[in-house]
Amino acid sequence: MSVIVQKYGGTSVGSPEKILHVADRVLAVRNQGASVLCVVSAMGHTTDELMEMARTVTPSPPRRELAMLLTTGEQVSTSLLSMAIQAKGAQAVALTGLQSGIITDTNYSEAKIRQVRTERVREHLARGEVVIVAGYQGVSNGTEITTLGRGGSDTTAAALAAALGAGSCEIYTDVEGVFTADPRQVPDAARLDFISFEEMLELAGSGAQVMHPRAVEIAMRFGLPLQVKPSYNDGPGTIITEGNKLERVAITGVTSEKNIGKIAIQKVPDRPGVAAKIFGALARERINVRLIIQSVGEGNVNDVTIVVRREFVQRATEVLERMRRTLKAAGVVHDPNVAEISIVGSGIATSPGVAARMFKALARNHINIDLISTSTIRVVCVIDRRRVDEAVRAIHDEFKLGRLRRRAL
Ligand code: ADP
Ligand code: ASP
Ligand code: MG
Repeated sequence: MSVIVQKYGGTSVGSPEKILHVADRVLAVRNQGASVLCVVSAMGHTTDELMEMARTVTPSPPRRELAMLLTTGEQVSTSLLSMAIQAKGAQAVALTGLQSGIITDTNYSEAKIRQVRTERVREHLARGEVVIVAGYQGVSNGTEITTLGRGGSDTTAAALAAALGAGSCEIYTDVEGVFTADPRQVPDAARLDFISFEEMLELAGSGAQVMHPRAVEIAMRFGLPLQVKPSYNDGPGTIITEGNKLERVAITGVTSEKNIGKIAIQKVPDRPGVAAKIFGALARERINVRLIIQSVGEGNVNDVTIVVRREFVQRATEVLERMRRTLKAAGVVHDPNVAEISIVGSGIATSPGVAARMFKALARNHINIDLISTSTIRVVCVIDRRRVDEAVRAIHDEFKLGRLRRRAL
C-alpha cells in the first residue's frame, strides 16, 4: 500500500472555509486511488493565543499543563477536517498524537519522537479511510501528552511518512516553497526548485521557519525527499533531497532569527573545567545554546557569551548568575536587542571570500557586527535587532540570490 502523507500548516486551515478547501484537495488525491494520511496544524494563530492565555494566568506555566493546553489547537482542526471530508461523502478518521502512535521522550515542550507505532493508522488506511493526524503532539510514558516544539507538525508528518514508507511527503504551506530568504522580508527572494537536506537543516535551524528542523533531520536519516508546496495553488514548490543529486552552489539562502537573547558572564577565571561547569549547568536546565563565544579578557580571565532562544533567556540568566557566584566571575549581562543573520550554502567551506563579502555588505550599510561564528556550511553574525531586515536584504543583494536557480544533476 503506497501512502501519500500531506501536511497542512496553520494558515492553510485558518478558517472553516479553508478547511473545506483542504478537504477538496485531499479528496482529489484520494479519488485517484491513493491512501492519504493528512497531518494538520492548529487553525491560524491558535497556538499563540493559547500560549497567551496561559501566560495571563501565570508567567511560568507548568510544562505538563502547557502541553495539554497547546495540543487542543490541533484537535480542533483535525476534527473539523475529518468532518469536512465525511460531509463530502468519503470516510475519514481524526486521531490525536496518542491515537496515531507518536511515542516521545518525556520533555513536555520539545519532545523528541522515539517511536511511531503505525498499527492503528495502517488499519484505518487499509479500510480506505483518510487518516487525519493532529500534528505537533505525542505521548510519553503511555498517557502523558507532549508537544514537539513550535512548528512541530512538519515533524509529525516526516515521522509518519518515514514509518509508513510513504511514497511522498508533501508539506503544504502559505508560500510557494523554500526561498533564498523569507519572501515576506525580501521581496525579490527566489524560490528554489531543489535544496539539500543539509542546507535545509541549516536554514531551518537558523531561522527559516518554513520547515521544522527535526522534520528535515528525520527525512535525511530515512532518505525521504520532502516536497514543500503552496496550499493555495498548484505551484511546483521545492524538493528537499540528497545533496549529491544537486549541483553545488556557494550560497543557498540568507536567514534571520529575532527570537533570541544574548547573555554574557564576564571575567570568568581562566582555568580548565570552567566551561564544562557552565555548560553542564545550562544542559541540566535543558537550555539549548545556539552560539558560544569565548573572548580573552585582560589578565587571567575570559568573557563567555551565549545566544539562546528568547524563551530560555530568563532561565539561562539565572543559571549564569549562580555560576557567577560559584566561579567568582565579575558579572552577568543580558542584551535582548540582538538578532542573528546567517548565510547558508554547501559551498561556503570551498569558496574563499564568502564571509568577507557578507561582512562587506554589512559594513557598506554601517551595520555593526557583534559576534561572528562559522561552520562549513554557515556563517552567522549577531547584530542589532533593529537593523535585521536591512541586513538580510543587503546580503541577499550582495550574493545576487534573487537570480539563483538550483538544478538537479
Ligand atoms: P505553516 O503554518 O504552514 O507551517 P510557517 O509559518 O511555519 O507555515 O512557515 C511558512 C513561513 O515561513 C512563510 O510564511 C515565510 O514567511 C516563512 N519563511 C521564512 N524563511 C523562509 C524561506 N527561506 N522560504 C520560505 N518561507 C520562509
Ligand atoms: N501549531 C503548532 C505551532 O504553531 C505546530 C505547527 O504549526 O507546526 O507551533
Ligand atoms: Mg510551520
